Amino acid sequence: MPGGPMAAPADAESRKDLMGLTRDELVREMESLGEKRFRADQIFNWIYFRGVTGFEDMTDISKPLRARLAETYRIGRPEIVTAQVSADGTRKWLLRLSDGNEVETVFIPEPGRGTLCVSSQVGCTLTCSFCHTGTQAWVRNLTAAEIAGQVMMARDELGEWPTPSDDRRITNVVLMGMGEPLFNYDHVKAAVDLCKDEKGLNFSRRRITLSTSGIVPEIRRAGAEMQVMLAISLHAARDALRDELVPVNRRWPIRELLAACRDYPSLSNARRITFEYVMLKGVNDSDADARELLRVLEGIPSKINLIPFNPWPGSRYETSDPGRVQRFGEIIRNAGIMATIRRPRGSDIAAACGQLKSQSERIPAYKRRGETKGDRAGA
Ligand code: SAH
Ligand code: SF4
Repeated sequence: MPGGPMAAPADAESRKDLMGLTRDELVREMESLGEKRFRADQIFNWIYFRGVTGFEDMTDISKPLRARLAETYRIGRPEIVTAQVSADGTRKWLLRLSDGNEVETVFIPEPGRGTLCVSSQVGCTLTCSFCHTGTQAWVRNLTAAEIAGQVMMARDELGEWPTPSDDRRITNVVLMGMGEPLFNYDHVKAAVDLCKDEKGLNFSRRRITLSTSGIVPEIRRAGAEMQVMLAISLHAARDALRDELVPVNRRWPIRELLAACRDYPSLSNARRITFEYVMLKGVNDSDADARELLRVLEGIPSKINLIPFNPWPGSRYETSDPGRVQRFGEIIRNAGIMATIRRPRGSDIAAACGQLKSQSERIPAYKRRGETKGDRAGA
């Protein structure tokens, strides 16, 4: 905080950021100052349980040590460029990272729960044809500090420190913002570990969901090492169509993807895999598509989340009619599989799934697809 005797030195950037360090890294850092393990535990508690951003607030640490820490370290937060609130209460933050890149984080309040949708990359290397992020030139992976930093920032903004034991506003964290989390495995894993730490941010692994377009080897690894809930962006039950919508399907086709899902640890009726299915008019929304979906998911504890397509400037698809989405959902439910229809949230602030895109680089979708401006009709 500015002011006080321990205010940040002018060249704040030369100080090492403690944000994003794992517990063990923090212990090593304190050892390098000649401090013992309990010092790292104290600091971990101040950062991740109490949410403080200045060493002067760490009142159980001696003043001289606090001053020394403040000279050596900082506790960073992503810089908030804009904070928008939708008429429905959804919030969206545009964040600027230390290198000037930008990402978005979204908070979706619902009765009895509040979901924070976090980004894992600036842009995405994949090019799903219905996704706005996919039109963005690839930029870079987020660090663990930048991923966990989004949760910390949202806790700051919603006044949720120290970590509440119950009655939370942010009850769930979903890695469903910009980027493919499993292409940034190590940093995502480190951030998930910070979110799960019971003495820190303290989110149960059942309240953290990782959404992936289907990176099969990393799904298996995540099952062994992270044990979070899984959401699969399936969107089509036939390879020919999925190749077009989610091009990474050419590398890991539906059969291999679903085999990894079947093997995901500790699945049960209470712990199901969510299959996301974007409803694209006339593309993947027929009764036959619904039946095909049921057929391929046979035997996997699943729930299906139907997402009405969220259009963006230059997108080539249309949203399925509400009646069509209802009927599709009915076919699934009649077969005894849970199907929910995602209500569009935050549409007035473009906060919905697939609409996130950093301001860093905006290139029109037609350029990305290598077309010229005239030939975009149809699709
Ligand atoms: N890369 C990961 C997570 C981010 S995308 C993934 O693909 O799963 C989060 C979800 O939004 C995915 O299910 C994605 O397919 C979906 N999505 C992308 N663009 C969309 C759009 N325009 N309308 C509706 N859903 C979209
Ligand atoms: Fe990337 Fe997911 Fe968008 Fe596909 S849907 S381009 S994987 S962010």
